[in-house]
Amino acid sequence: MGLDEDSLEYHRTPPAGKIEISTTKPTNTQRDLSLAYSPGVAAPCRAIRDTPADAFTYTAKGNLVGVVSDGSAVLGLGDIGAQASKPVMEGKGVLFKRFADIDVFDIELDEADTDAMSRAIASMEPTFGGINLEDIKAPKCFKLEERLREELDIPVFHDDQHGTAIISGAALLNAAAIAEKRLEDLEIVFSGAGAAAIATARFYVSLGVSRDNITMCDSSGIITEHRVETDGVNEYKREFTRDVSDGDLSDAMIGADVFVGLSVGGIVDQAMVRSMADDPIIFALANPDPEIDYETAKEARDDTVIMATGRSDYPNMVNNVLGFPFIFRGALDVRATEINEEMKVAAARALADLARQDVPDAVVKAYGDQPLQFGSEYILPKPLDPRVLFELAPAVARAAMESGAARRELDLEAYVEELEA
Ligand code: NAP
Ligand code: MG
Repeated sequence: MGLDEDSLEYHRTPPAGKIEISTTKPTNTQRDLSLAYSPGVAAPCRAIRDTPADAFTYTAKGNLVGVVSDGSAVLGLGDIGAQASKPVMEGKGVLFKRFADIDVFDIELDEADTDAMSRAIASMEPTFGGINLEDIKAPKCFKLEERLREELDIPVFHDDQHGTAIISGAALLNAAAIAEKRLEDLEIVFSGAGAAAIATARFYVSLGVSRDNITMCDSSGIITEHRVETDGVNEYKREFTRDVSDGDLSDAMIGADVFVGLSVGGIVDQAMVRSMADDPIIFALANPDPEIDYETAKEARDDTVIMATGRSDYPNMVNNVLGFPFIFRGALDVRATEINEEMKVAAARALADLARQDVPDAVVKAYGDQPLQFGSEYILPKPLDPRVLFELAPAVARAAMESGAARRELDLEAYVEELEA
């Protein structure tokens, strides 16, 4: 209640909303205005007409991301439509700005058709250095992103898929190290087979998990070969078909090393946690209520349960803000044509490595003086840790240069100094 009322007040306090445009060049004299606009502005127009890449030199394109949604899968609110999603998209802009000094135009498209939406977004390519797709339901989001990635020469990144994949992937790297298990040996059960789960399972394979060790469950249970033959299982879920008997989540969890919940709250009980392998890893990421509560999972067993949730009131919050601002920062700064798998893996590894380093006092203070030291209760850095920017952006930029996605080479040492300044 308190939070709702406070948030309405926060948003309606004039000026309404929470973002505005500001100018970056002098606008005080007649001369300034004739440089900013007609007639002087014709000079950069001609330059870009002759050399399109000059758009990065003469316009804000290189620091501008389009946050685009149709409002079809907004937070836990579902399909609330484009207009109602605007506070979220403006909020995404706030986070881009706050964490990585990236400007955002939020674009809410009232368009249910995938082809039409794809055309609309593709035609906005000249405006932006990158596109962040947001809160678009599955399977529309998969098709849309695939098509736009093919067509556009700027990064297209559906954060609900890849953000979750990358942050939880970093958590997985560290959790596996703490449990002293090798990634390729992990038996992993997913609850959920939607946008976040499919992308996360794909990404874990990129990190070194064996596809054959992944069992995926949707609301009808394990996705098995039998179900694929008899039910209408969509092509994305089919990627993770397992050759086992039909069963439900509790069957799937027996002996598993890792549970990844990207489904709905409260569907895992203590008996299911007890059926897992030694030192189990439990990422219960459904929001706002996890598949199982932190305390309930911890109390189920005597060995170490390495637990992450999507909540800020428990350790190890899987929070996308640890990723997208810094990933786009690195990508924009090399004028990347895409955010490819190499760049995502680099981001996850950089995050995981950072969590293993000592945490500066100022960061510990910002999080209420709780001890932050690498271990089962601290497997991910904190978003307000300024080192996340200095580590992730260069790691992503480097991976872009090494994988051929960069249109500009950076001297990485100088780049880090620039970021720190
Ligand atoms: P989505 O595309 O709608 O997918 C939801 C999936 O959950 C569907 O595959 C659905 O099965 C499955 N499901 C529903 N009830 C289930 C049940 N009782 N048992 C097993 N599976 C069930 O949604 P999404 O965007 O992937 O998000 C899924 C959840 O993850 C949400 O709670 C979201 O808040 C959370 N999430 C958290 C983070 C984070 O960082 N913490 C990030 C992204 C998403 P069917 O396919 O059979 O319908
Ligand atoms: Mg989202």
